[in-house]
Amino acid sequence: MAKQYLIAPSILSADFSELGSQIRTAEQAGADWIHVDVMDGHFVPYLTMGPFIVEACRNITSLPLDVHLMVTNPEQLLMPFAQAGASNLTVHVETCPNLHRTLQTIREIGCHPGVVINPGTPASMIEPVIHLVDLVLIMSVNPGYSGQVFLPEVLPKVTAVREMIDKYNPSSLLEIDGGINTDTLPLAIKAGAQVFVVATAVFGYPKGIAAGISALK
Ligand code: ZN
Repeated sequence: MAKQYLIAPSILSADFSELGSQIRTAEQAGADWIHVDVMDGHFVPYLTMGPFIVEACRNITSLPLDVHLMVTNPEQLLMPFAQAGASNLTVHVETCPNLHRTLQTIREIGCHPGVVINPGTPASMIEPVIHLVDLVLIMSVNPGYSGQVFLPEVLPKVTAVREMIDKYNPSSLLEIDGGINTDTLPLAIKAGAQVFVVATAVFGYPKGIAAGISALK
């Protein structure tokens, strides 16, 4: 299949006192999606943002909003995030005992369903639902904080999921999240990833947001 590469800056590393201008700068510099890392202080140690921030982003940009739910019981948050303007809603297999139903619900409420696995979770966990998703997200760090170091041991799993997607659902995108920068992005492309979540490599780039996106592209 023709591969399309997308950059999805995560606002987790943005300066929230200037969120509007930072998102506009990223959009003008060629960001393809805006990634929103939602953490609940239970599934992951840290606590971040809820539907209000997604709504604020929706009012700032027309880019797809890629909402990554690192929360226990994501089912109860699907509708609030959909109503706030989320484009993609991605849930962790580790948090969804009724994964088929959760993914079907996401599609029914008008969003693109995505499934995500942690570094310690095998690729086989997503095989039963691969036909239901528009997006598979592979964590290349353990979720919870911005600025962690890429775990190269996830690369064989990226390749395994690439093969699974090509075989069972070629229209699904394959995204990677965690420690992506100009050094690790080529490794992720080689393994088969297409969508790259970047946080500090964009919003914390020493020469600015636009230069960070340009370096990655
Ligand atoms: Zn994320």
